[in-house]
Amino acid sequence: MNEDDDTATTGATYDYIVIGSGFGGSVSALRLAQKGYTVLVVEKGRWYDKGDFARSTWNLKRWLWIPTLKLTGIMRVTIFRHIAILSGVGVGGGSLVYAATLPVPKQAFFNSGSWASLNDWARVLQPHYDTAYRMLGAGFNPRLGPGDQALERVARRIGREEEFHPAKVGIFFARAPGEAGQTVADPYFDGAGPPRAPCEHCGACMTGCRHNAKNSLDKNYLYLAQAVGARVLAETEVCGVRPLGPHGRGGYAVQVRDSTCWWPRRRTLRARGIVFAGGALGTVKLLLQLKAGAMPHLSDRVGCDIRTNNECLIAVTTADKTEDFSQGIAIGSVLHTDPDSHLEPVRYGAGSGTWRLGMLPMAYGRNAWMRLGRMVREMARHPREYARIFTVGNWAQRSQVLLFMQHLDSTLRLRLGRTGRLRTELDVGPAPQAHIPRAEVLARLYAQEIKGKPFTLLTEQLLDIPSTAHILGGAVMGVDAATGVIDASGRLFGYRNALVCDGSVVSANPGVNPSLTITAIAEHIMAQVPARL
Ligand SMILES: Cc1cc2nc3c(=O)[nH]c(=O)nc-3n(C[C@H](O)[C@H](O)[C@H](O)COP(=O)(O)OP(=O)(O)OC[C@H]3O[C@@H](n4cnc5c(N)ncnc54)[C@H](O)[C@@H]3O)c2cc1C
Ligand code: SF4
Repeated sequence: MNEDDDTATTGATYDYIVIGSGFGGSVSALRLAQKGYTVLVVEKGRWYDKGDFARSTWNLKRWLWIPTLKLTGIMRVTIFRHIAILSGVGVGGGSLVYAATLPVPKQAFFNSGSWASLNDWARVLQPHYDTAYRMLGAGFNPRLGPGDQALERVARRIGREEEFHPAKVGIFFARAPGEAGQTVADPYFDGAGPPRAPCEHCGACMTGCRHNAKNSLDKNYLYLAQAVGARVLAETEVCGVRPLGPHGRGGYAVQVRDSTCWWPRRRTLRARGIVFAGGALGTVKLLLQLKAGAMPHLSDRVGCDIRTNNECLIAVTTADKTEDFSQGIAIGSVLHTDPDSHLEPVRYGAGSGTWRLGMLPMAYGRNAWMRLGRMVREMARHPREYARIFTVGNWAQRSQVLLFMQHLDSTLRLRLGRTGRLRTELDVGPAPQAHIPRAEVLARLYAQEIKGKPFTLLTEQLLDIPSTAHILGGAVMGVDAATGVIDASGRLFGYRNALVCDGSVVSANPGVNPSLTITAIAEHIMAQVPARL
């Protein structure tokens, strides 16, 4: 339901204003509205209907989020000194751009990090994982694409074929042959959800599903939230929050501005309670600004314990035209490469080739000169192969991006710089690394399987900055304000009726794609909020 209703905000005081409409924000909107509260969701990105998504990543206006250049797409790239971050923007947050993979973390996640002593998390979250699976419509991918089959061959070569399996994803697949290509009545919520159409295995999930098959949040949580009265205000950014009365006892004044025009209007909205759900980047930036100004009692831990999945992204491109690697869903399979790590082959839809502009042949070494030297030597050894690969016509049809993730922990810290912009700092423990030797070995094996060559991002090759699509933490759980920013129920230490409910609360490294876990934790946080009297 594309409802961008400005009259929703005039003069009213909401029970809750939810900042951001990603996984945490959408769960919050539905559960609070079901409990009888009036809810306004404020989202800086645009509404996207299926026909609005870019056909390929070359349509930068609909793919990238750089509003000052009038690019109002669904993906934001933020490069810091220690990490380059991909994240989602729009009504539905990261669900618009995500690959819809929904794994459960291993046991170590529930017993480590700042939240470990607060609960028996594996037991407490189990029912919420079940709810999250049901709400996000998770099911196993029924059809492996050529890129998945190549991973299966790699699994056999390293003797771990039993650790290879199709991915569990939030995508609607045809339930019978006759359903393919048809629009059908809501298959998930006894008719209360929107009509849907089955997946066409076009590989384009990460530019936005143009076929109404991906179960993005606007088709489940947010859709149902609107049906029970929640309002969504899109293209509006929250730029300030002022507690009314000591510690927010009288509610909050929320300052907003238009986010997609050059001369933004500013307004102030009011609410009795507030939910910070802007994703790790959005929430942490806002909380750091507020701590320096209107909300000084926030914990000093805001911005600490920033984590990734310790990922590594390596694209393998081939000049061999026998297979079309854009076929399948964006992530169709998983290989558990050892007890701590796993590998997923990721694809874009045919025609999407923008990433090739930001990649160089993979080479590792202590510094940029060494890496560049090794890269030149490698190309000099295989000039004809590289010439053919550099000139392949359709990058997405000839490439798979290997996403390697690890359970091993590493942390960074986000702070506000002098100009008010976010910057990263090293924190206690090791920082995420651009070079993961195990990932390099697997990428070379995969490259042999598809007769291709591995490539890494320019930021890794030239600047040694690792990349992540899974930024987490910064407002983690703790026993008190000295150890965390929120308690085990998501409540901000130091303020009343103020919750955090998104990836920033994830208090250990899940080691796997995190959206299912964010959804489950959000369900847990919302289950603690009493119904409106
Ligand atoms: C290309 C890509 C592929 C991915 N694939 C997967 C996958 O397959 N599986 C998986 O589990 N995860 C995947 N992820 C990660 C996943 O998208 C995120 O982990 C998840 O979306 C985080 O959820 P969240 O609730 O923290 O916030 P988000 O989903 O990031 O939503 C936050 C929202 O808040 C808005 N916002 C921020 N600040 C403000 C503000 N001040 N005012 C108003 N609005 C604001 C943002 O615009 C955004 O829409 C992928 C990510 C990317 C980039
Ligand atoms: S593979 Fe294509 S049709 Fe299927 S969910 Fe992804 S974008 Fe939609």
